[in-house]
Amino acid sequence: MQYISTRNTTKTFSFKDVFLNGLASDGGLYVPKQIPSYSILDLEKLKNLSYRELAVRIILDFCADEFSESEIKDLIKKSYKNFRVQDVVTINKTGNINLLELFHGPTLAFKDIAMQVIGNMYENILEKDKLKVNVVVATSGDTGAAAIAAIKDRKNMKIFVLHPENKISEVQRKFMTTVNSSNVFNIALGGNFDDCQKFVKSMFADKNFRSSINMSGVNSINWARIIFQIVYYFFSHFKIAKLNEKINFSVPTGNFGDIYAGYVAKKMGLPINKLVIATNKNDILKRVVNTGHYKPVKVEHTVSPSMDIQIASNFERLIFDVNSCNSKKTLKLMNDLNERGEFKIEKEELKKIKDSFFSESLSEEETKSIMSEMYKNHGILIDPHTAVGIGVAKKISLEGNTIVLATAHPSKFSDVVMEATGIKPELPENLKNILVEKENYDKLPKDLEKVKNYIIERV
Ligand SMILES: *Cc1c(COP(=O)(O)O)cnc(C)c1O
Repeated sequence: MQYISTRNTTKTFSFKDVFLNGLASDGGLYVPKQIPSYSILDLEKLKNLSYRELAVRIILDFCADEFSESEIKDLIKKSYKNFRVQDVVTINKTGNINLLELFHGPTLAFKDIAMQVIGNMYENILEKDKLKVNVVVATSGDTGAAAIAAIKDRKNMKIFVLHPENKISEVQRKFMTTVNSSNVFNIALGGNFDDCQKFVKSMFADKNFRSSINMSGVNSINWARIIFQIVYYFFSHFKIAKLNEKINFSVPTGNFGDIYAGYVAKKMGLPINKLVIATNKNDILKRVVNTGHYKPVKVEHTVSPSMDIQIASNFERLIFDVNSCNSKKTLKLMNDLNERGEFKIEKEELKKIKDSFFSESLSEEETKSIMSEMYKNHGILIDPHTAVGIGVAKKISLEGNTIVLATAHPSKFSDVVMEATGIKPELPENLKNILVEKENYDKLPKDLEKVKNYIIERV
């Protein structure tokens, strides 16, 4: 399979380029030149596979040039051995909601599902090619923890994580800062998530800096993360629906990563009616889907911090797709965004977006009342991000069954769960130690040069 950049379709890239670079050097995002497509007959064959078997089949379709089937099998086996449930994910039916629980990995958020494979994939490639890389990543709370858990103690890599100081939950921070490994560096940046992400993007765009540290990235713009997330859309559909039955997915989203994986699954042939973009107060995605006007405003701090984002990077992939893979048009819109702080999607393209997507947002009060309602009516504790997914699914009426992606374990956000339900969710037993261990991190001001120097001194 060949890959191209959303901003220049004349050059092609291998999976390995895409994996190691994260972001194309023209600033665009990598996408496959052609997305594989499955017929109903193909789906029939995949339907009864275990999660791990299904993962191998789907992942191989995107990277068979780099890995053999037995290598992928081995990567998958290693990556999911520490998950707390048999089949990596579970479906919890509560009332008329199907909750797809994606938080049974080592750092209690869905990001582990992709990140664990990424860690092992790096090791495989770096070992084969005798390479060393430095991963620089921005986090709104959960990506950093998942990346650190996947990369800590690996020989040929160091990882630098920028999180917005005081804007993530205590448990989120402790998952990152209590890891005592000599290849892990945590930076608390005096800014918000968009600042962290902007810094990482600038470092990628700075060719000298990038090559001087052999920089690599694992943010949700990395195509590999998308691939590993496609798997659970197929798996959960197979579990709850008939093969040709169109269902909906409600996805709490910020950076448009997880839900974009659902869109790729739909393009591959999975029968999906609507992909519901569920947002908190930071509702840029709702505004753009409803009006075609993409205009980031100031980020607001909410009880669902992993979605406190106004620049939904992966949205560029959708823009590219609905513009019939026209990179000139995509580049123009992205330049508009850079220069004028906004862009407009034309009617025809917006119609294509509306065919697949629907969006609604939830206020802080609504989010908490969903958490309390789920506890009162069904006896389950849910985290605030999952609550946004459930609340939005309840607010709108869609044809067919809906699966809501449960993206984090409630104990990762215990303060707000406690506030909404009166119950303090417990961390899984084997993770309780993070609450008492010593934290290691450095505070840096919102100054790109200082961050670059910090990294250069430590690579
Ligand atoms: C990262 C995250 C999200 C948002 O995912 P995107 O891929 O950025 O859309 C939602 N919920 C939780 C718990 C997360 O960690």
